[in-house]
Amino acid sequence: MKGKLIVVSGPSGVGKGTIVKTLVGRRADVVESVSCTTRAPRTGEVHGREYFFLSKEEFTRRISENDFLEYDEHFGNFYGTPKSFVREMLKEKHVILEIDVVGALNAKKAFPESVLVMIAPPSVEELKRRLIGRGTETDEEIENRLKRLDYELSKKDQYDYVVINDNLEEAIARLSDIVDNGKSK
Ligand code: ADP
Ligand code: 5GP
Repeated sequence: MKGKLIVVSGPSGVGKGTIVKTLVGRRADVVESVSCTTRAPRTGEVHGREYFFLSKEEFTRRISENDFLEYDEHFGNFYGTPKSFVREMLKEKHVILEIDVVGALNAKKAFPESVLVMIAPPSVEELKRRLIGRGTETDEEIENRLKRLDYELSKKDQYDYVVINDNLEEAIARLSDIVDNGKSK
């Protein structure tokens, strides 16, 4: 195995997607994992790019074959990280999973050598500004996402690294350095 498995979590709106996508765009040796889901594709989503879209039967079969590094149910659909796909990618590249704290801690149990990275906001006020600025959630959804904040940040001691996303370029550089030199505790 050549690559390292990096698991990135953090509150909604903190900048995980921006950091990970920029890094993956800049480094040919880093890829983002593609999860499996039983939900229907949204307009524009492509099988194998955003997700592998599976039937419930297929997903259940793969659970019984122990093919998920971790899986969970959200809004009545299953989502999971496919072990076989991640193993295949790790032969050539570093692999980043962007996943919530529950999924991340499950992934660490299944794959102890993975490196867990929590992206944290410089302040709650700034996180609110980013969520509002992104403009993709209603006020109620923003409130719900902020309610999860304390819970998510309370798990940071179980992470190998905490990266504060204040200056975006510095946060990308820090994650890039963790990909090269980071170690699992
Ligand atoms: P997440 O994937 O964690 O939910 P996003 O990557 O969608 O978060 O980022 C949320 C918003 O914050 C986006 O509009 C993004 O452009 C902005 N953003 C990300 N990082 C920074 C930063 N360091 N400073 C200011 N704005 C940022
Ligand atoms: P969406 O349907 O909006 O793409 O995703 C719904 C939720 O599923 C999000 O909270 C997302 O983080 C979560 N999710 C996506 N992929 C995975 C995965 O592989 N494992 C787990 N545990 N959650 C996932």
